Amino acid sequence: MEGTLPGLVLTAGLFSGGFIGDLLGGNGTDCRQSDARGARTMQTIVEEWPLRYAADPVRRYVRDLGTTLAQAADPSGAGLEWRFFVVRNLEPTAFAVGGRRFVISDGLIAYVRNESDLAAVLAHEIAHERLGHFCGDAQPGSARVHYGSIVQHFDLEMEKAADLEAVGLLAMAGFDPGSMYQVLRCLAERSDASSSNQLYQRMRALEVLGSGASAPNGRSSAEFQASRRSILEDLDTPIRSCR
Ligand SMILES: [Zn+2]
Repeated sequence: MEGTLPGLVLTAGLFSGGFIGDLLGGNGTDCRQSDARGARTMQTIVEEWPLRYAADPVRRYVRDLGTTLAQAADPSGAGLEWRFFVVRNLEPTAFAVGGRRFVISDGLIAYVRNESDLAAVLAHEIAHERLGHFCGDAQPGSARVHYGSIVQHFDLEMEKAADLEAVGLLAMAGFDPGSMYQVLRCLAERSDASSSNQLYQRMRALEVLGSGASAPNGRSSAEFQASRRSILEDLDTPIRSCR
């Protein structure tokens, strides 16, 4: 599998938090190390995965949307650089590697109902960063999933915390806060049994907190629609979006 996307059916890891190469060696309190770790993990991905180039309009769109969300959450952090990458793969995928670095897939943009749902996924990943989920060691009980040279850690409680934080980020940035719930539903509909079970648990956690309802019409900018159209035009076979 060298040079190809390792195990890109990201089921258990469907936009979970730590896709982290060498987290287990970390010092439990030092957040500065997470930046260096994120940079190293991202370097591996850049070398091995087919990413869209920096000038690609789809990549630029995702970077702008992600930066809008990150800055809405923390206007004082306007000088911070948030790096968003887009991998040319049709499985809906998103993850954070730490150090304000994030990867999402073409397939995610094609699959979500609308721009607000895409914003929810990015907000969830940004939330992992804001909540310091990369600053310590992985929880002893967290599941580990290997993708080539990269190891993903999955901790359900951290996922729930990031979902809840994302609901707030969406509201602050003017998106539909109910999109967090809706995008979990969409992903659960196309996941295997164990992954969809985890996604349903996350949905229930949002329901309990009253964050399940969604606006009837999530918004989508012209840039979102152009990005989606460009991805779909590259395909030989059509792919179905969530409804
Ligand atoms: Zn997550």
